[in-house]
Amino acid sequence: MKKPFLTLFINIVFLGCVFAQNPRFQQHVSYKMEVEMDVKTFKYKGHQEIVYTNNSQDTLYRVFYHLYNNAFQPNSEMDIRLQTISDPDRRMVRTFTKEGKNVTESRIKDLTPDKIGYHKISNFKQDGKSCEISVEGTIMEVQLAHPILPNSKTILSLDFDSQVPEQIRRSGRNSSERVALSMTQWYPKLAEFDFEGWHTDPYIGREFHGVFGDFDVKITIDKNYTIGGTGYLQNRNEIGHGYEDKGIEVKHSKKTKTLTWHFIAQNVHDFAWAADDNYIHDIFIGENGVELHFFYKNDEKIKENWKALQPKTNDLLKFFNENIGVYPYKQYSVIQGGDGGMEYAMCTLITGNRSLPSLIGVTAHELAHAWFQGVLAFNEAKYYWMDEGFTSYIADLAVSSVMEKSLQEDENPFQTSYNNYYYMARSGKEQPLTTHADRYELNQIYGIAAYSKGTVFLTQLGYLIGRENLNKTIKRFYHDFKFTHPTPNDFKRTAERVSGANLDWYLIDWTQTTNIIDYGIKSVEESNGKTQITIERIGLMPMPLEVEVAYEDGHLELFYIPLNLMRYSKPNEYAVPRKTLGTWTWSHPTYTFTIDTPKSNIKAIDLNPTQLMADVNPDNNYYVKE
Ligand SMILES: [Zn+2]
Repeated sequence: MKKPFLTLFINIVFLGCVFAQNPRFQQHVSYKMEVEMDVKTFKYKGHQEIVYTNNSQDTLYRVFYHLYNNAFQPNSEMDIRLQTISDPDRRMVRTFTKEGKNVTESRIKDLTPDKIGYHKISNFKQDGKSCEISVEGTIMEVQLAHPILPNSKTILSLDFDSQVPEQIRRSGRNSSERVALSMTQWYPKLAEFDFEGWHTDPYIGREFHGVFGDFDVKITIDKNYTIGGTGYLQNRNEIGHGYEDKGIEVKHSKKTKTLTWHFIAQNVHDFAWAADDNYIHDIFIGENGVELHFFYKNDEKIKENWKALQPKTNDLLKFFNENIGVYPYKQYSVIQGGDGGMEYAMCTLITGNRSLPSLIGVTAHELAHAWFQGVLAFNEAKYYWMDEGFTSYIADLAVSSVMEKSLQEDENPFQTSYNNYYYMARSGKEQPLTTHADRYELNQIYGIAAYSKGTVFLTQLGYLIGRENLNKTIKRFYHDFKFTHPTPNDFKRTAERVSGANLDWYLIDWTQTTNIIDYGIKSVEESNGKTQITIERIGLMPMPLEVEVAYEDGHLELFYIPLNLMRYSKPNEYAVPRKTLGTWTWSHPTYTFTIDTPKSNIKAIDLNPTQLMADVNPDNNYYVKE
């Protein structure tokens, strides 16, 4: 009797431990792909093999793949969205006047069969056994031949027969700047399954989420084409094209028609590339020996800017290394391609016909994504505001730094983000940041929410816990959560650990609601030679306050009113002397404090002197002596 009881006991303890220790599992993929590209027809064929490790406690009976190319077909969800949204992405539509009216028309709607994108999948096997697949738009569902048990591996293989679409968005052939191949979202990609479940978002317009792992990719292409992309080229001295070691001369015989490029990338969640037969390829050895590669069209108009960009990219790399954490790969490529700027693992595709400040600006933003989208790897469909907001925040600081614009301590370099947010909050069209990226009524509101409200989330967090604590939070967050797909709550918890403040209320109100901040000065009254100042909370969202009082004799004083929900008092980082008052409990609509001086001695009062609190109605923030 004893023995079975003991076994049962051990099982319970063991299972208990497994569940307790592994709530945040991560799947793992190891891709092997061999691809042949026909540069004349834009058709390509490939074989893919994935070693998939199920680290979850779930038994998986089916898996899902993204077939992004299929979005670029008439009547796809992407096409219908373009036809029905009132402010479509201008890159994706044709705009013209018809009977005196401005008309926009989806560019996908009229794609002919030779210009659409597609993936035709065949020969799907799991551990050598055929599986049943079904495709709906950009998602393929696979009924597995046998279930994948927890903590086990399986091999998934398939063949794909594909066509590169006309460049409509991000990926495609013959970009507006004549780059032949922008190969992003170009292969059948296993969907992510994580502690939040399956992420099988159809490709409608917004961004991505993927499984971390390794890629081993062989691309066979016309020998005149230069490839830049994710991963380290394994056969540099065989390929040449600017990759060869110093002193090596690579010559391809006349008989050679194609070259097979072999790339390997480790610990990434995507693989992208671009190719052109008229690229210049420069390598700049950057900070920590990181190779910065630049691929741009051999065009006199842009050459000078692309040369000047190279040391600036290294300055940006240094800035991000210092202010976020060390870039963990040994290579990063800035590639002319795509249709604006889009971040990928170890590289970016950007448009290249730009002024130098614009070229540096877009590179700063996309390179910053390498830390947030690439390494931390937020789910861009759900937590886009972290990805775009954090990226914009750090890139704005980096650009100011590398462009040698001096940043004054109390100046707000994020004014545009605040102004955009105010516009949105007052528009009546705002949707909370918990909205799925594809489910915004308007592209414009998505943009402001993701980039501007996301940026203000951070700058305003600096207002709450102090700038130094904010800087420490960003670094600690990167250190603690790299390669793990963290969530908003992970960031909030890091800020709490660093500062000691309770911040649940901030994450909730700022990201899960459209509550606004509006405080106002209700009255300034004299009684018995003292001055009573009453402030009212008009908006639903609470905030601690920093009230700056300017006296007639010219000196300034700051009154800090802590918020009860924070259980915290912020360190004083300003030169102005500060008095900390009693906490303001949220449900009380007003708060009164007394200054030991007659009203006539007070020249002015400002509720938001740093402008870091996103108070949507500034008109009631001031008192000025009549
Ligand atoms: Zn971005």
